[in-house]
Amino acid sequence: MAAGTGVMRDLTDSFGRRVRDLRISITDRCNFRCVYCMPAEGLEFAPRSEILSYEEIERIARLFVESLGVEAIRLTGGEPTVRADLTKLVAMLARLQTPAGEPIDLSLTTNGSTLSRLAEPLAAAGLKRVNVSLDSLDPERFAAMTRRDMLPQVLAGIDAARDAGLYPVKVNVVVVRGANDDEMVDFATYGRERGIQPRFIEYMPLDAEGNWSMSQVVGADEIVAAIDAAYPLEPVGHGPEPASRWRYRDGAGEVGVIASVTRPFCGDCDRVRLTAEGSFATCLFAIDDYDLKGPLRSGASDAELADLIAGAVGLKWAGHRIGKVDFVRPKRSMSQIGG
Ligand code: SAM
Ligand code: SF4
Repeated sequence: MAAGTGVMRDLTDSFGRRVRDLRISITDRCNFRCVYCMPAEGLEFAPRSEILSYEEIERIARLFVESLGVEAIRLTGGEPTVRADLTKLVAMLARLQTPAGEPIDLSLTTNGSTLSRLAEPLAAAGLKRVNVSLDSLDPERFAAMTRRDMLPQVLAGIDAARDAGLYPVKVNVVVVRGANDDEMVDFATYGRERGIQPRFIEYMPLDAEGNWSMSQVVGADEIVAAIDAAYPLEPVGHGPEPASRWRYRDGAGEVGVIASVTRPFCGDCDRVRLTAEGSFATCLFAIDDYDLKGPLRSGASDAELADLIAGAVGLKWAGHRIGKVDFVRPKRSMSQIGG
């Protein structure tokens, strides 16, 4: 029995996949407006009172770690660094331990715009790693894709993260046909020079404006071939993490490719999600989610919350259906679910 919460549930779904990784969105707000994620204007944000407090997030996270087998937590959003006192939440979560007494793998996905200021305090609070999103190394293109003219701040933030020891720093690049699909080798060069891992992500149908089309997706094979032609690659293997990993044959580091569209990794999926408003989802593309905030705020016990979570995991589907005729877009876009 777990030390803290006094309950223990097995979070294995009906396809035999065990949950190990919890993604927590801590806000639906963001200081960027990336074209593949948010609309330029008009998106309604949840009222503050509907957003989980840090204490509520910590209670749910504790249950997952101490009683439900979760070993890794990633904070995301929206943009997690726009929420006040993020270091306070990081410190609260960094104290959590698995039943075996191990610390958790605590990481953050951010657009990097505030990392020059926050990287050091976040590392000091117990954050282990960061993924920084960056889709172009060209200032004009960067501004077109994010609708913000902030490339220098993001580049400085990436360096600050590396200098603060938030290692390995991974740079998430969403590849969109016609927008940045000629920059793969530039990103590889950038990563090799700085000891940073680019992770190329296939564009998914989660943009708020509903403009996604299959013709804008640049597939993993094309991405790997482009880099391999400049810097020969060899596969590292494919674990439960979604990125298939490739290393440079000359030993200068690694790149990852997340083929969510052309080669979905649903069969290995070990993750679940908590939205900023306290809904629990078993998939980025889930149509149904489960309210945890209501029960939490009306006094549910850890055992009752664990039952709700285990029941939802039991119903997790085999995988998303992108590209199939029966694919249904989830009602929330990426910034609302938490990427
Ligand atoms: N604001 C933070 C950031 O941008 O890193 C965290 C939240 S963001 C929603 C998480 C990740 O989702 C980012 O790496 C972003 O590039 C990615 N993302 C957003 N919309 C996407 C889409 N339609 N397809 C693929 N990846 C997407
Ligand atoms: Fe904001 Fe991240 Fe979405 Fe860009 S991808 S709009 S930075 S939440």
